[in-house]
Amino acid sequence: MNRESNTSQQILSEVFGYSHFRGAQQTVIDHVHNGGDALVLMPTGGGKSLCYQIPAIVRFKRGLGTTIVISPLIALMHDQVGALDVAGVTAAFLNSSQSAAESRAVEQQLLRGELILLYVAPERLTTPRFLAMLESLHEHRALSLFAIDEAHCVSQWGHDFRPEYRSLSLLPERFSGVPRIALTATADNITRADIIERLQLEQAHCFVSSFDRPNIRYSVASKLDARKQLLAFIRTEHLDDAGIVYCQSRKKVEETAEWLKHEGLNALPYHAGLDIKIRTRHQNRFLREDGLIMVATIAFGMGIDKPNVRFVAHVDLPKNIESYYQETGRAGRDGDIANAWMTYGLQDVVNQRRMIDESIGSETFKQSLRGKLDALLALAEATDCRRVRLLHYFDEHSQACGNCDNCLNPPAIWDATISAQQLLSCIYRIEQHSNISFGASHLIDVLRGKLNDKVKQFGHSTLSTFGLGATLSDSQWRSILRQLVATGVVRVDARAFNTLKLTERARGVLKGDVHVHLRAETKALVKNKKMILKKSVNSTGLDDDSAACLKTLKAWRSAIAAKNNLPAYIIFHDSTLITLAEQMPQTLVELSGIVGIGAKKLEAYGDELLQILHV
Ligand code: ADP
Ligand code: ZN
Repeated sequence: MNRESNTSQQILSEVFGYSHFRGAQQTVIDHVHNGGDALVLMPTGGGKSLCYQIPAIVRFKRGLGTTIVISPLIALMHDQVGALDVAGVTAAFLNSSQSAAESRAVEQQLLRGELILLYVAPERLTTPRFLAMLESLHEHRALSLFAIDEAHCVSQWGHDFRPEYRSLSLLPERFSGVPRIALTATADNITRADIIERLQLEQAHCFVSSFDRPNIRYSVASKLDARKQLLAFIRTEHLDDAGIVYCQSRKKVEETAEWLKHEGLNALPYHAGLDIKIRTRHQNRFLREDGLIMVATIAFGMGIDKPNVRFVAHVDLPKNIESYYQETGRAGRDGDIANAWMTYGLQDVVNQRRMIDESIGSETFKQSLRGKLDALLALAEATDCRRVRLLHYFDEHSQACGNCDNCLNPPAIWDATISAQQLLSCIYRIEQHSNISFGASHLIDVLRGKLNDKVKQFGHSTLSTFGLGATLSDSQWRSILRQLVATGVVRVDARAFNTLKLTERARGVLKGDVHVHLRAETKALVKNKKMILKKSVNSTGLDDDSAACLKTLKAWRSAIAAKNNLPAYIIFHDSTLITLAEQMPQTLVELSGIVGIGAKKLEAYGDELLQILHV
């Protein structure tokens, strides 16, 4: 190991309290230490911050000056700087939330060369005043490094385009020789190429990590009663855990949050229609308090770097795999076990398809949206490893993971070709007979031979398919229909009362050329329940004494966090508290060996912790 790696290893353990680098961290850090430009693509929770924070510390110690971090998330700068502060690293931020006097004080610190890191929003960076300050630092060789966080914001292909990021191309022109590191969790090739071009990073070394999040368990359940399923999921697996529940509409967000509260859970709503003050308050509570559930639309999440979000639940289908991966990626950033859970049904498919049809945009654009939705539906209907499919979507190849619902409990598959043919021909005959199309309920009534008023009115009991499917239940037929709609064999016409139509693909199935293999729903559901009980991710596995100690430690942490106006996890991660409760260290030396306790934290909190841990 060379001298540089040695120093970074030392900083990792002394300042941050961690024993090992994760993934590509070490290689990136070595490269940046030596003044190389870098583009870092790492999944959420991969540990991107250390990739520039450690070089910033090392280069500052070498007399190379301050690192400027460009970040679009004003709300988060405060917490990021707070985290560095409790680790003993001198850092500050400049943004529009500060008073003029506060900004002046930070500028003075910068010009006096006291700051190891300075966080700024891109619009601040490019003001003439700030550029003049940077130029003066540059002249004095006191500008060490530029770190461009959330670099995908420069690309309009990415999901959070920020026009102000475009002006960052001035950095290499005006500050030649100052290395730059750009970081993002956005994986796709177009965005990557765009970042390189826009930020002029052609010479940069590109570090691409695997996008796998092995600690996240993916599961998808058929929607029966979404609310009840959600409640059962939270109660059996995540009682007292922090989590996010995504819903499609504002109304549903409010109803679901209200209902969870009514059921005794600690839930808050979040959507763009709420007053900004309420939104901010809810977001802050979620970040700062333990065990809150945020029920939200996709307006919530950008830059939420709370590491101990234990679950992300989707009660409605997301738009596409990119959104699903991004949203579920907010779970388990700390690397501990987390759940990505989704429930979906026929109506979700219909809604998403309708939204695309009704959206504005060219037919080619809509076609690409449909393609993306189909990929997501294939994932939702998959009977094989979900992770293999997810990663494949991002051009990564992998083996069955052993940590998704399908791997843990391979679903029973049955040859549903005959039932599918019955369903398809029933749609065909109904339309032939009455010259109009009908919806799902009526179709299933006819198949199951129900002689109700509507069936009588239209004379559908005379059809050859009437009563053909009496052996299957209503929900089994719904499941077959959903899978046929998801795979594009049947189309639901949302503009004509959700009536059902056969597509070109139906022909192959009807002729027997294409076989239909479906998941046996009911059995799979029962099995899922067993899996949940057997493999609960909530339990920390602590004995009673340790569990009591953990509770005291958490209460102590909440008090310290509140006093410093910082989220609890910035004081200590859950995993650090759990290790403390398990191992009960009794001396400062023993404490210093615990992951997450660096020198500064040991000095600040060591004595108080020993008092709590003293037996
Ligand atoms: P990203 O920005 O890539 O999503 P972060 O930099 O926020 O990820 O890191 C995610 C979490 O992992 C943070 O809580 C961080 O403290 C922790 N972490 C990062 N690197 C390490 C490491 N080498 N060992 C242990 N924990 C780490
Ligand atoms: Zn799997």
